[in-house]
Amino acid sequence: MTHPAPLAKGQFEICTQDCKARCCRYITISVATPRSRDDWDEMRWWLAHDGVLVTKDEDGWSVHVETPCGNLGRGNACDVYPHHMTTCKDYNASHCEFTGPLDYDLELESELDLARYLERRKLKRGAPIARAIRRAERTRRQAAPHGLVTLAGLAGSARANA
Ligand code: SF4
Ligand code: SF4
Repeated sequence: MTHPAPLAKGQFEICTQDCKARCCRYITISVATPRSRDDWDEMRWWLAHDGVLVTKDEDGWSVHVETPCGNLGRGNACDVYPHHMTTCKDYNASHCEFTGPLDYDLELESELDLARYLERRKLKRGAPIARAIRRAERTRRQAAPHGLVTLAGLAGSARANA
C-alpha cells in the first residue's frame, strides 16, 4: 500500500515510483477448499479469465483479481490516506510482493495450470475437469488454423466479388 508516512525509510518512494503501487491494483478473496467436481469446474471458470490467479498457502485457497483501487491517485499514492481500509492499514509494506516473493504453496494462472495440478494430485473429482481442459485445448489448437482458412476464404470471396 502507499503511505505518505512510510513504514521504512524510502518506502513511500519505492511504493509510488519503483513499484507503482502494485498491491493497490488487485483484490484477494479467500475461498473454500475445493472438493467437488463443481468446485473444480468453477475454479476453471475463474482461471479462464485474464488477470485471475488462484493460490493456496497455510491459510487456505484464495482468488486474486487484477483491478486497480478507485482510491489510487495519479502519483500512485492513496488519495484517502489515512482514512483507508483496515485491510490496507494492516498490510506490511516492509515484506510485500515487490520486495520479496510471496510464500504460496501453489499458484495457478491458467486452465492448463489447473489441469496439471489435478493430474499430478490424481484427484478423483477433479479428473473430469482436467480431461475437459485438455479436450478444450485440443479444440482450440484445431480451431486456430481453421479460423485462418475461413478468413482467407472470406478475403478470396471478396476479391472474386469485386
Ligand atoms: S507492493 Fe510493496 S512496494 Fe509496492 S506499493 Fe505495495 S507495499 Fe509498496
Ligand atoms: S484504499 Fe488506498 S491504500 Fe487501500 S488499496 Fe486503495 S489506494 Fe491502496
